[in-house]
Amino acid sequence: MNVILLGPPGAGKGTQAKRLEEKHKLIQLSTGDMLRAAVASGNDLGKKAKEIMDAGQLVPDNLMIDLISDRIDQPDCTNGFILDGFPRTTPQAEALDSMLAEKGLKLHSVIEMKVQDEILVDRITGRYTCANCGAGYHDSFQQPRVAGVCDACGGTEFTRRSDDTAETVRSRLAAYHAQTAPILPYYGEKGVLKAVDGMTGIDEVTAQIEDALGAA
Ligand code: ADP
Ligand code: ADP
Ligand code: ZN
Repeated sequence: MNVILLGPPGAGKGTQAKRLEEKHKLIQLSTGDMLRAAVASGNDLGKKAKEIMDAGQLVPDNLMIDLISDRIDQPDCTNGFILDGFPRTTPQAEALDSMLAEKGLKLHSVIEMKVQDEILVDRITGRYTCANCGAGYHDSFQQPRVAGVCDACGGTEFTRRSDDTAETVRSRLAAYHAQTAPILPYYGEKGVLKAVDGMTGIDEVTAQIEDALGAA
């Protein structure tokens, strides 16, 4: 099963992708995580992407399309994948369609996670992750069971993204509304789009996604 999680920054795509990964034995393909790894490694892609990401703008389509096309070819994707953060523009959505057709793969569903902008600002500015295993947390909405200790791995070091600031969030939201939201009707016409209310609790959102996938 190949699924797209589509929604604004902070909508909960990463949080839900991790749950789908476990339950359905799929692989989460987060283009944001892939780009951050490229920046950390200092490779060519990382050098090109760093400033763009810190400004809250979108990395050029050709770079993103090549990145995801190569990733889908890896053997761990054969049971299916969850795209988290891709596609984000009309050219990316069109390129995804042709690469899936070429590779003989089908798109099961596109899940739209709807969340209001004011809520997203709070979600993003309070977000942090375990430095060891990448588990996601939030200062108010998703705290570890024991303060300062990761639920998943027991790690005690946490990190925050350099682009998770109140100023950058505004550009990222503007990029979402101008460049990403316009691809929703494209998937609507294909009959694969399902919307969920992303403003409910994390477990409730998971239940809505499971319903949407089951009904597909
Ligand atoms: P969030 O999960 O908060 O929406 P991401 O981790 O998906 O953020 O993305 C972080 C940044 O990486 C984006 O602001 C953008 O600069 C870049 N990026 C990630 N995916 C894409 C993509 N598909 N196309 C262009 N830029 C991307
Ligand atoms: P995205 O990948 O779409 O940018 P994340 O999954 O990283 O979003 O979630 C952003 C922040 O909001 C994280 O700190 C996460 O713990 C928190 N969060 C995710 N889903 C919910 C929810 N349904 N209600 C409240 N907080 C949430
Ligand atoms: Zn951890």
